[in-house]
Amino acid sequence: AFDTLVIGGGPSGAAAAIYAARKGIRTGIAAERFGGQVMDTMAIENFISVKETEGPKLVANLEQHVRDYDVDLMTGQKAKSLKAPSVPGGLVEIELENGATLASRSVVISTGARWREMNVPGEQEYRGRGVAYCPHCDGPLFKGKRVAVIGGGNSGVEAAIDLAGIVAHVTLFEFDTKLRADEVLQRKLRSLPNVEIIMNALTTEVTGNGEKVNGLVYKDRATDEAHTVELEGIFVQIGLVPNTEWLKGTLDLTPRGEIIIDERGQTSIPGVFAAGDVTTSPYKQIIIAMGAGATAALSAFDYLIRTDVP
Ligand code: FAD
Repeated sequence: AFDTLVIGGGPSGAAAAIYAARKGIRTGIAAERFGGQVMDTMAIENFISVKETEGPKLVANLEQHVRDYDVDLMTGQKAKSLKAPSVPGGLVEIELENGATLASRSVVISTGARWREMNVPGEQEYRGRGVAYCPHCDGPLFKGKRVAVIGGGNSGVEAAIDLAGIVAHVTLFEFDTKLRADEVLQRKLRSLPNVEIIMNALTTEVTGNGEKVNGLVYKDRATDEAHTVELEGIFVQIGLVPNTEWLKGTLDLTPRGEIIIDERGQTSIPGVFAAGDVTTSPYKQIIIAMGAGATAALSAFDYLIRTDVP
């Protein structure tokens, strides 16, 4: 059995494994795909101390750093369920999709999240070429350009306010007849001169010139008429879905499915910690996920040295 088993191989999982292995304890990572969301990222300009890098490059560095330590790295392994220890201090069991079971005295869950997509023609084709999901990450790439934000919840309206300070013009599209964001955010949004809000709009297509996005087609749900808006960028803000389907009914999750943790990364099950985008952590960024992974691993170590083996 492991002392600390990390589920997930994104930035938070890699950081957790390195911190655990540096304590000289038996450490493993089981991950579906090493690198996580970072593998799907092109330009990264906010990983502090590295002015500019690319996702796959950062992932290669991460993997090299992990492999420098005595970490049992198991990729292509998808966790299917978690079983809490039957006695205090006992083993946590992780059942994998392939039928095998891994046991560990402590577990760090870092299975991340995925952006909800619009599922319209052009979205996949122009992903990273105008279609974006993270305003903190990609906002500055659209300086002086016209962008759309899809979604009028808190994240969409926050994104529109954020982007309005960087880009030339923002059009916010909401499917419903009203915005769902907090009133104070809506007021701020409506006060901005370079923002237009279009309600009751269903996005139907992302258009492009073969290289980059050049527009967006939407249907006015009141009249059924199709309209085209010319623009260079589209930020999709219709939800970030945590990868916790496999944990339903075992750990305490929020209604949105995020793992509830305290400031030490502790979950509702003793010996089980969590870190990164899969948790209630308010901002989802690489540098934040790494810090959270380090916190969770140190908490796991603290748990191990204070807990007797039954
Ligand atoms: P993830 O990176 O999501 O990793 C999750 C890991 O868990 C993966 O290894 C996955 O395979 C694994 N996994 C999932 N389910 C299971 C399971 N059941 N069993 C086993 N393994 C599982 N952040 C920035 O700071 N700067 C940027 O420029 C930036 N740009 C981005 C661009 C895009 C297109 C996207 C999608 C995200 C971007 N982000 C950026 C956000 C950043 O990628 C995330 O905040 C970060 O990757 C979160 O790390 P994580 O380790 O918590 O989760």
